[in-house]
Amino acid sequence: MSNHLCRPPRRRWPTHVLPLLVGLVLTACDSTPPDPTVRLTGATMGTSYELKLVPAPGQTVPADLQARVEAMLTLVNRQMSTYDPDSELSRFNKNPSTDWIAVSPELQQVVAEGLRIGELSGGAFDITVGPLVNLWGFGPEPRRDEVPSTAAIAQARERVGDWRLHARAEPPALKKDRADLYVDLSAMAKGYGVDRMAALIDTTGVGNYLASIGGEIRARGRNGRGEPWTIAIEKPEAGQRSVERLIRLGDHTVSTSGNYRNFFEQNGQRYSHVINPRTGWPVPHTLASVTVIGDRSMVADATATALLAAGPELGFQLASEHHLAAFFVLIESDGGFKERFTPEFEPYLLPQQP
Ligand code: ADP
Ligand code: MG
Repeated sequence: MSNHLCRPPRRRWPTHVLPLLVGLVLTACDSTPPDPTVRLTGATMGTSYELKLVPAPGQTVPADLQARVEAMLTLVNRQMSTYDPDSELSRFNKNPSTDWIAVSPELQQVVAEGLRIGELSGGAFDITVGPLVNLWGFGPEPRRDEVPSTAAIAQARERVGDWRLHARAEPPALKKDRADLYVDLSAMAKGYGVDRMAALIDTTGVGNYLASIGGEIRARGRNGRGEPWTIAIEKPEAGQRSVERLIRLGDHTVSTSGNYRNFFEQNGQRYSHVINPRTGWPVPHTLASVTVIGDRSMVADATATALLAAGPELGFQLASEHHLAAFFVLIESDGGFKERFTPEFEPYLLPQQP
């Protein structure tokens, strides 16, 4: 399993193959009447999407919903994937112009949100970190699994800095102050895709669903047994899938960013796919995962990555100051795990099993 995860197949989106969180529909053995849940799933963004739809009695899930979801996800990839060399974002990245470049309102919106979260994180989250991500082998090119040279890190770092990127809403356009700036939206695109899936489902009138892409999950209403959706936060262990905590999500979104799935090891040292834009190095392995609950999946996705990048102390301080519902799993010096969460997260936690 870990080999597989350490050497992911070529894919359009940079992510681990397995989701960080698993939506647990606690299906009953004795459920009467029968569970009406309709499950739709498919591949997207280097992982899979899943919809669990629970129509009300007499209500049906439109037959073309899956086709509409897939068409929308294809469009999102065409706009925002750095894994598609012809996507709108890839064309912006390749464009040497430092003038305003007209883009779709969707791309502009996601970039503007990325810049906002970058500011909130004090620079730990930076959507221009792509040259470093790619250098460390976590981008669209095949994995290298070795620490780059100091000179190469310094050179890539030169190109990073989101203060050189500007987003304008009217009319939608982006501008870079450096011709070789490179924007990477991988830390927030899955969440954005989940929000778009939820918006599509909302148009059908189905009011109970769980929508996810990889580890980004958005819930509404109740599951097929009429209960609130219950989600598992995974224990952050490579190659294993066990439950750290269960949460009752309500009509919210949850995202986990982890250091424990997408990484490589050299000389016993682990290097993960979240990079500190200041040092140019992967963030140290003292924080195993950060889970964020919010109202918008794109924001929770980006924020989870931002807090992970900010690290155990600064990240927790940011979460507390901004009253975020955040749950940190820290790695102690003896290798054990320690939980830490903000008061805003507490109401979602189910009591721990003895
Ligand atoms: P995943 O995509 O595996 O679910 P994340 O949402 O945490 O995980 O996103 C990680 C991705 O974000 C990396 O693969 C990389 O493309 C990008 N990234 C890495 N470091 C940063 C950072 N400091 N700021 C913004 N994006 C980052
Ligand atoms: Mg993220």
